[in-house]
Formats: sequence, C-alpha cells, structure tokens
Amino acid sequence: MDFLPIFAKVKGKPCLVVGGGEVAKRKAGVLLEAGAQVRVVAPEIDAELQAEKGVEAIAARFEEGHLDGMMLVVAATNNREVNKLVSLLAQARNIPVNVVDDPELCSFIMPAILDRSPLMIAFSSGGASPVLTRMMRGRLETMIPQNYSRLAAFAERFRELVKSRVTNPPKRRIFWENVFEGVVAEKVLTGDEASAEAMLQQMLKNEDNIRRGEVYLVGAGPGDPDLLTFRALRLMQKADVVVYDNLVSKPIVEMTRRDAERIYVGKKRDDHTLRQEEINDLLVRLAKEGKRVLRLKGGDPFIFGRGGEEIETLAEEGIPFQVVPGITAASGVASYAGIPLTHRDYAQSCMFVTGHLKDGTMNLDWDALARPKQTVVVYMGLHGLDTLCAKLIEHGLPDSTPIAIVQQGTTQNQRVISGTLKTLPGIAEREKPQAPTLIIVGGVVTLREKLAWFHPQKS
Ligand code: SAH
Repeated sequence: MDFLPIFAKVKGKPCLVVGGGEVAKRKAGVLLEAGAQVRVVAPEIDAELQAEKGVEAIAARFEEGHLDGMMLVVAATNNREVNKLVSLLAQARNIPVNVVDDPELCSFIMPAILDRSPLMIAFSSGGASPVLTRMMRGRLETMIPQNYSRLAAFAERFRELVKSRVTNPPKRRIFWENVFEGVVAEKVLTGDEASAEAMLQQMLKNEDNIRRGEVYLVGAGPGDPDLLTFRALRLMQKADVVVYDNLVSKPIVEMTRRDAERIYVGKKRDDHTLRQEEINDLLVRLAKEGKRVLRLKGGDPFIFGRGGEEIETLAEEGIPFQVVPGITAASGVASYAGIPLTHRDYAQSCMFVTGHLKDGTMNLDWDALARPKQTVVVYMGLHGLDTLCAKLIEHGLPDSTPIAIVQQGTTQNQRVISGTLKTLPGIAEREKPQAPTLIIVGGVVTLREKLAWFHPQKS
C-alpha cells in the first residue's frame, strides 16, 4: 500500500489552491463541496472561480507566505517549476500537498469519488492509471443506486437507538445486516421511510425477529438476461434460496447467488411439477425457516403470473415480501420482433389477454377484442389458435388482419411466424413453434418488415 486512505475533515478550514485555470477550478470545487475555505493564488484567476462562494482570490504569483495557516495545499498550475516549488515548501512545513497529475510531487492524492453522502467511496490507483480508476468508478456507479445516500442517512438516524437496544455487538451487526439487506432497506430506497421506520421499530421490539425470512417476488423478464432490472439483479445476488419455474431462462437462473439453493417448481402446460397451492406453501415454509427467498418468475409477476395469489398467502402469514416488476412478454417480445404495440396509424389501444383454454374453450370478451385500430396480445394462446382466429373473424375482424406468433422471444431461439387470421392456423401447423409463444394480432404486425431489420436480434 503506497498511500494511506483517509477522509479529511476540511469543513471551515483554510486550504490553498495554486493556479487559476480549469484544473484549479475543478480541484477548488471539490474542496468547496467538502466545506473548505479556499484560497486561490494565481496571476490570472478564472472569473467563475473568483466569484465562487467561499473563495478568497489572490491575484498574484505564488510565494511562501501564502502557505501560512493552510491545512491542505493543491498545486494546479501548468508550470512544473511552480508546482515543484509549492510542493517542496509545503512538505518542508509538513502541510499535505497534492500536485495535479504529478504523483512524484504529491504527499497526498485526491481519489476519484462516488458520492452517496454520507456514504463516500474513494478510488485510487496511486497515480498509475486515472482512466482505470474512473472506469471502476463508473461500474460501481451503476451498482450502488443514487438513493444509497438515503439509506446511509437512515442508518445514521437510528444508530444510537439500535446501539442502546441491541447491546450485544455481534447481534447488532446481524441486526444491521438484516436492515440493509432486507425489506427495511428496500422501503428506504423506494422512498417509504415511514414504513421502514415502523418495521425497524418492530424488529427492535423482539430480538427473535433478528433472523427473519422474507420473500422477493421478482419478475425476470421474457428471457434475455439484459432485460433484468437492477433491483432484480440485486435481490438475485442476495437470496438464500431461489424458487423458479420453466419460464425463467437458464442464463438468468445462473445469475442468482452461487451458493443459493435452487428449487425448480416446473409449470409447463398440463405438467405442473408443484400445484400453485404447494408453491404458496413452500414460500411460506422457507421464509419461516429464516431464509431470504427469491421467487423468480418469467416476465412480470403481476401479469398472468399468479403473483397476486402468492403474496396473498404471504400476507396472511405475516411474512414480509416485496414485488419487483419485470418486462412482460408482450413488451419484450414485441420490441425484439420489431412490432410496436401501438402506432398512430395502426393501433390506439392494446389489450393483453390469456388464451388459456378452459374445458376446451376460450372465455373472452370477443366483441371487445375484435375492434379496429387495436392490438391484441395473447398469452398462452397457441393451443387455442384456431378458436382465436375463428372467433375474431366471427366477431367482425377482416380475415386479412395480420397476426404473428413469436416463439421464445428475446432469446437466441426467437422465431417469428406471421400470416393473417385466415392463414396462420395452417402455417403454424406446419411450422410447429416451440413454447413459450406469444400471439400478436393487428395492423402493427406488418410494421415488422420495416423495423425488424434494424434490430440487432435476429428474428
Ligand atoms: N408473467 C409472464 C407471463 C406468464 S404466462 C409475463 O409477464 O410475461 C406465460 C405465457 O407468457 C406464455 O405461455 C407465453 O404466451 C408468454 N411468454 C412468456 N415469455 C415468453 C417469451 N420469451 N416468448 C414468447 N412468449 C412468452
């Protein structure tokens, strides 16, 4: 380790910046943000910098006297001789000095920072490669949401209270881990501090609550892992056990925490490995064992996903849960297939329906579906394709209405089969699309020829 990382308190303290150009302005800016009183010395000083609140501008050449009383010094001129002089004189007085882009002359370096105040992350390569440090910073930027500031501030607010209530240090550490990794933190991150506080108080009331299970009902999108949300990914990485069915693509299951237990609950058509009630009970049992349970579902959990039923059982049992939306098949698949679901000229409305057959029929409001200038998206409809096309024609749609079947949309195996209400059943018979498939009906389907070409995904 070449440098000792520390965070310096410069609030109200005099700090010197030698130089008056762009670089000086940037460095002075960071110091000002940390509340320092900044003295700027240079023959010519940038007008904006001079006007900055908290800046004392001295339009002169640097001389030793400018160092008097300074806590930190930054040399940011474009003249190495001047920078060197500043560095030597400061070091002779044991004042920490930074010379921009000149590690040799520095007694301290200014790291790249990721500011989630009060949470602050600093990066440095000790001057080896500022570009690399900035890239790392960029990566972490996407992993640590903006509102972590809020989370840190929330923790600060309750720090003393928790300390006085949970007196055993290891237990307190677990308590805080639970707060940061659990529903309390998620509430804070989504801005609902009132609920977060109520939950935290509840946890404090009973130490038995400290290891308490919870369930994340997470939408995994239609297949391509790139379509996961940041929040889904975060929860996938922290769950102890993953409960998934066959709509969740393999690469996505692979992205869950490595050492998490994985439970497959099936659910292919007519081949339910576990019945819905059994899945509901399984979630409750796992959470009661104190586990963080990830219930991973294809698409969006609240769209034909029976997510509502699963959380109803959890709510009855008093188990904390959260629901994370996902990209539903309709929007993911349509976009990868180059079919806009609405379009000024072709469709002013869009309907999502399930084509699941019950007793061999499809119980749908056909008059509402067979309207002009409307897109109809049918989930689970392949087995009822003949009925679907016949009923739409019977209720008034022209038999020339475009219709497409998209097989395994957004994945490597995406395939689009299109035709009209009249021709598609025959085409599908020959082409035998593989599940899962989504059916899209309406004029927008024809736009595909124009638009799909430009999409990176082959279809
Ligand atoms: N909750 C899911 C839908 C579950 S119902 C969502 O929001 O997407 C299951 C149906 O979704 C399948 O029968 C199929 O019609 C559709 N579906 C899901 N993923 C799909 C995909 N990648 N390609 C085509 N259809 C898909």
